[in-house]
Amino acid sequence: MRVFIVHAHHEAKSFNGAMTQTAQRALLAAGHEVLVSDLYAMGFDPVSDRRNFTTVRDPLLLRQQTEESYASEHNGFVPELQAEMDKLFWAEALILQFPLWWFGLPAILKGWVDRVFAVGRAYGGRRWFDRGVFAGRRAMCSVTVGGLAPMYSYSGINGPMSAILFPINHGILAFTGFTVVEPFVVHGPGRITPAQRSEYLELYRYRVLGLASANVLPGPNTADYDESLVRKAGISPADDQDGSRVPAARRP
Ligand code: FAD
Repeated sequence: MRVFIVHAHHEAKSFNGAMTQTAQRALLAAGHEVLVSDLYAMGFDPVSDRRNFTTVRDPLLLRQQTEESYASEHNGFVPELQAEMDKLFWAEALILQFPLWWFGLPAILKGWVDRVFAVGRAYGGRRWFDRGVFAGRRAMCSVTVGGLAPMYSYSGINGPMSAILFPINHGILAFTGFTVVEPFVVHGPGRITPAQRSEYLELYRYRVLGLASANVLPGPNTADYDESLVRKAGISPADDQDGSRVPAARRP
């Protein structure tokens, strides 16, 4: 399998660093191909604007998606973005490795998505979800969080991790067609014992080696939705197995 790891941590000796090293070593030893984009080490610029392009569709008014479409048609992305797009299209599996920051992606990784997942390349023309550009490929979030697991349960103060990661799993990965593997979450790596950290790394090794068959999250089937992308009458919510997509007030 060809695996692309996008790594977003500023410290090589961090637990995130250990996770990426673990994944890379395990996958290579098992005969897989691996590419890593270490965003901080690369000095990746996360700001999305005209700097994304070598082409100009409209010099007077910047409409990012219009410029993205134009650049897609005219091979007009700057080399640093084209290189990331090439890795993305090369990969059969994508891993986003990051610490949870303010319930979301660190800015450098969010900016990588903003710039690399461009209209015309990663989506556009109603190519989304099961009809998405990356259909048939897998993607997984590998996340560390400061808080311990009970805080991130349904009755915990932060609510479930599935709700926190929904914008990434659904809004980015499933939207562009990936089959989304259940996230691998490490709770409080700085608050647990060295033995527990080693155990997490071993579990993660198994997870990446089993990426092709790991459990996946349910995603929408576009055939269940009408032209307005509203679920057709008579079709029950298919995606609510863990309840995270149903507002708490409506949860049984
Ligand atoms: P580190 O602190 O680097 O590592 C933890 C421990 O693992 C250290 O003791 C380290 O020495 C050890 N370690 C490193 N390598 C190995 C190895 N090979 N084997 C064994 N042990 C090793 N948390 C939340 O819960 N929710 C939030 O919304 C949130 N927002 C944040 C926003 C910001 C801006 C910041 C800075 C932090 C936030 N946090 C939040 C906390 C953050 O998610 C955690 O600090 C982070 O996930 C911890 O991961 P790390 O890789 O940085 O751990």
